[in-house]
Amino acid sequence: RVKDRGKAHYQFYRPEMNSEIQNVVSLEMHLRKAIEKQELILLFQPQIELSTVKVKSFEALIRWNCSDLGMISPSDFIPLAEETGLIIPIGNWVIETACKQIRNWNDKGYEDIRIAINISPKQFQQTNLVNKIKTMLEKFHIEPSSLEIEITEGAMGDKQETIPILKSLKEIGVTISVDDFGTGYSSLSYLKQFPIDVLKIDQSFVKDVLNNEKDAAITTTIIHLGRSLGLEVIAEGVEKAEQAEFLLNAQCQKAQGYYFARPLVVEEIEKRFLLK
Ligand code: C2E
Ligand code: MG
Ligand code: MG
Ligand code: MG
Repeated sequence: RVKDRGKAHYQFYRPEMNSEIQNVVSLEMHLRKAIEKQELILLFQPQIELSTVKVKSFEALIRWNCSDLGMISPSDFIPLAEETGLIIPIGNWVIETACKQIRNWNDKGYEDIRIAINISPKQFQQTNLVNKIKTMLEKFHIEPSSLEIEITEGAMGDKQETIPILKSLKEIGVTISVDDFGTGYSSLSYLKQFPIDVLKIDQSFVKDVLNNEKDAAITTTIIHLGRSLGLEVIAEGVEKAEQAEFLLNAQCQKAQGYYFARPLVVEEIEKRFLLK
């Protein structure tokens, strides 16, 4: 026992591990101040309606422009935010900023615009998420359906807890979508029980949809499944014209990806996609 502990102790103090821990601590310290220092930014990626080539919805994707560490992508700080609980204030900032943006675009005459925000598992389990969202919708006087929340299958976790939260959000009128659809589990049973509006086909299926028969079959099947359930289907990660064409032929309503546009700052969205 003592020997084991000694060994663990020794491992803990390996210099390279120490610097790793130091890095995480430093990242956390910086992240704690990110909101007040106004270092967080929402970029927006357009979702293209394939049959009309119109754009009326956008996904908000967070970036952290840290004064000391440079631009940091969500995959590098959202996990840390989740572990430390910082995801709650960050998530609240995202909800408020997205609602404010909807208000701003409504004021500019873009009435039927929709913004999707990503909700992480921890945030979804937070007791007052529903109230938080309701308060923001009221504060900015926006149509509830113009706010969309994206939840992954993993975040849905325990059905007993998830169903009432989703039902409350549905009652308010918020649009509910399943992100990265097809990569989690128990998808079909919750499609039956949960009040879902949108399915987002994970980009891993879209990537090789042109040269992998299985990916093509899975993608087409998700589109048909969504359509027969009356859901909107959005394909993620569209990088080529041929992929967009495949999706249009398969009757997928919307697509999102670098082929159409990368996530962009508000000004760029207004210039390129919100022309009157
Ligand atoms: P996600 O919600 O599945 O978002 C899609 C990711 O794919 C985004 O990465 C987007 O920039 C990227 N993407 C879009 N089009 C293409 C394409 O054509 N090809 C490729 N290869 N990638 C494409 P990003 O912005 O780095 O975000 C990564 C993940 O971080 C998101 O995955 C989401 O899970 C999380 N995330 C982003 N913003 C937020 C946020 O505000 N809150 C929370 N909780 N999570 C967020
Ligand atoms: Mg998403
Ligand atoms: Mg996704
Ligand atoms: Mg993802």
